[in-house]
Amino acid sequence: MIASLLNRPRVTVSAMSSPARVRADACPGVFATHDAADGPLARVRLPGGGVTADRLRALASCAEDLGDGDVHLTSRANLQLRGVRRPGLAARLTEAGLLPSPSHERVRNVLASPLSGVRGGLADVRGLSAELDRALCARPELAELPGRFLFGFDDGRGDVAGTDVCWRAIGPTTGVVLLAGADSGWLVSRDEAVSALLTVAEAFAHTRGSAWRIGELADASTLLPDGPREAPQTRPSRIDPTVGRIRRDDGGEAVGVAPRFGQLSAAQLRTLADFGDVVVTPWRSILLPGGADVERLHAAGLSTDPATAQLSACIGAPGCAKSLADVRADAATLVPDGERVHVSGCARRCGRPSGAHRDVVAEPGGYRVDGRWTSELADALARKGPS
Ligand code: SF4
Repeated sequence: MIASLLNRPRVTVSAMSSPARVRADACPGVFATHDAADGPLARVRLPGGGVTADRLRALASCAEDLGDGDVHLTSRANLQLRGVRRPGLAARLTEAGLLPSPSHERVRNVLASPLSGVRGGLADVRGLSAELDRALCARPELAELPGRFLFGFDDGRGDVAGTDVCWRAIGPTTGVVLLAGADSGWLVSRDEAVSALLTVAEAFAHTRGSAWRIGELADASTLLPDGPREAPQTRPSRIDPTVGRIRRDDGGEAVGVAPRFGQLSAAQLRTLADFGDVVVTPWRSILLPGGADVERLHAAGLSTDPATAQLSACIGAPGCAKSLADVRADAATLVPDGERVHVSGCARRCGRPSGAHRDVVAEPGGYRVDGRWTSELADALARKGPS
């Protein structure tokens, strides 16, 4: 059904030049929430995606006591709480260690290869995100970075290489600094990776003008310190499966879950916490590096089917006033056939994947699929009926 509906060229999102802006970016945080139709939305940063079991339980309690009862995963491996109408969130997150620096909370944007140290990769980048987070929060001038600026630690597979500034491993202890996904030629050891990324971030903060992202600069190489450079190289990138049973390099088993539309109840968070610390991925899935009882996950309503992660949708109506449809209800009737599909309630396409995907956008009375108007989506819903 969805295969014929989506029989159109795929869309790839890439960085491109933007005109000068006159307003500051409005990325939400905990102190500056976004005023959504379903109430204040708070975004909690998780540098590198790592969350301890205790912090998962704290987030579950916050969602239950202060928000709408659920936690929502984002495409930057962060979490969001919606409908936060009751006070006290910042104090509770601070107590849980999830808000180490109020002044820096919106700039703690760090991605890391989620499978690093578990399976594959040239280097183990675990620990670098926390190291960068501590150093970032200790530099007052970097509190002024745009909320969209994104750091990355890529273990060599290239799955988070498209961040603003990224250390990408080219061996166990050596890597190269990427600027907006492009090899800068600056070779840096793993030990110096954090320092190198902060050097670039400071140069960007001082010279960015109205730019929010490094990809918007005319010449990003001006952010690099003086010194020898290698010839830039183009390296292949791949995203390895993070959902389902995953054989670890040490012979054990990790498990990845794909919450439907990246949305988890407080009870589901507590179930995950029972299996230890987790890694939130940029693909709205959660990795349990230490493994899990899959039957228990399924009983809790947590899918380990990779196909579940192939289908994403913005919050849509009624949570967002801009939405032209209840996109999650509509998307829930679709069955992706191997390709990523993202369904949006309007042309802003919030939360769309960074890689190739089928692009479904609501319009009055129907949807536009990869730019082509169709009424087939509504027809497909009618044929399937209520689930
Ligand atoms: S894509 Fe549009 S409808 Fe969906 S959350 Fe963003 S602004 Fe709202």
